[in-house]
Amino acid sequence: MLSEYEAVIGLEVHIQLKTDSKIFCGCSTAFGGEPNIRVCPVCLGMPGVLPKINKRAVEFTIKMVLATAGTVHQESIFARKNYFYPDLPKGYQISQYEFPIATGGAVIIKNKDGEQKRIRLSRIHLEEEAGKLFHDTDDRCSYIDLNRCGIPLVEIVTEPDLRSSEEAYLFLSKIKQIAEYLDICTGNMEEGAIRCDINISVKSKGDKNYGTRREIKNMNSLKFIKRAIDYERDSQIQIIKSGGNISQETMLWDEKVGVTKLMRTKEESEDYRYFPEPDLMRLEITPEWIERVRKTLPELPDEKYRRFIRQYGIPAYDVGVLTSSRNLADYFEVVALVSKQPKLASNWVMVELMREIKETDISRIKVRPENLGTLITMIAMGKISSRSAKDVFAEMVRTGRNAEEIVKAEGLKQISDKAKIEKVVKLVLDNNRVSVRKYLRGKEGLFGFFFGQVMRETNGRAEPGLVNKILMDELNKRRGQ
Ligand SMILES: [Zn+2]
Repeated sequence: MLSEYEAVIGLEVHIQLKTDSKIFCGCSTAFGGEPNIRVCPVCLGMPGVLPKINKRAVEFTIKMVLATAGTVHQESIFARKNYFYPDLPKGYQISQYEFPIATGGAVIIKNKDGEQKRIRLSRIHLEEEAGKLFHDTDDRCSYIDLNRCGIPLVEIVTEPDLRSSEEAYLFLSKIKQIAEYLDICTGNMEEGAIRCDINISVKSKGDKNYGTRREIKNMNSLKFIKRAIDYERDSQIQIIKSGGNISQETMLWDEKVGVTKLMRTKEESEDYRYFPEPDLMRLEITPEWIERVRKTLPELPDEKYRRFIRQYGIPAYDVGVLTSSRNLADYFEVVALVSKQPKLASNWVMVELMREIKETDISRIKVRPENLGTLITMIAMGKISSRSAKDVFAEMVRTGRNAEEIVKAEGLKQISDKAKIEKVVKLVLDNNRVSVRKYLRGKEGLFGFFFGQVMRETNGRAEPGLVNKILMDELNKRRGQ
């Protein structure tokens, strides 16, 4: 099927902005807690109230536009999008329509083979969030929480440049990464901080015309997004192959069953009766304001990626992992600069540290990056074996103490004393005379066994290179006896 047909996908990504207060009122945007406590006449849409734009929400939007190389318009207009839904007490959503804050721009995605693709953006605008309905709490009725009403949302709309679920996944991951670098969103998809609507159609490969598209609404899990796209693509291909027609419809993904279901036949934009929001002025963004915001931009993921490769000379794969989040990248940089061992630093951060932060958040881990840097210096200087270093690290994770202190207190310093190691080697060989005879008759695989015994006797603290050499010498001596 997939050799003949391909999917054409466009995304509308909604990002909840991390402002303290809502977009048009002073209510808090905090997550969780009692329902319907962070509301006021403005976000509930009571008659006669006046919305007032949150300046910081506009600045966060400008940041996103600059980070994706779009054009910020000096004038944009808020518009009412009229529709009835219980989670929208006003009966309309304040959004932007003909005159969004920005148009154009692009995001570069990169697949696992390193191939790059440019995904064009058609627009970026600012709008307000609706409330949240709960249908599963009770058999007889639904519940509503309006705390979310009026949280600022940035909507990013792509051109239909994506061709597979994998590309959609990469695009969303990249948007999430950029938003995290810009520090404008919590990035928490479980809390719905990033969601997307997927427009998908299929066409014969090589065909220039696009088919009729269906929209899958409100996806908030990267894993489900992949599944939903693959399912929808296959079912559209089936319909076309059996001679049917796709009609423009809005679908919902049912994760339990693994299918998309019809939500409603698609409304056209005319159905929303958009008109300029009469209670808000035109939004004016001066070039000076844009420049002030531009100066606050951090180093962005692509720039950081290129710099890490240049500056640390570590493999591209490592750099991809290390720059996946800004906090992780910052952590790695301190470890690498303190230890002056970039590759070792990268290994430790990617394996040992990331194993720990799987369960917690990097900002909560007790190991300070400069302390991990010191530990790595001690490994590089042969003061401590890699094996002991792992024990020291475990202790650092538990207590937050620094590496030198732990090594001193626990006596974990590496044994590089030749006489001491010789003594242990002799002891091990004496205790395993039968194996030694077998070894001397040609069973060379036993060398690893002796080596392991010596390391065990020294609690892994003997310097491996030295053990290797002394063990070899001692066995050769016994060959002559
Ligand atoms: Zn409010």
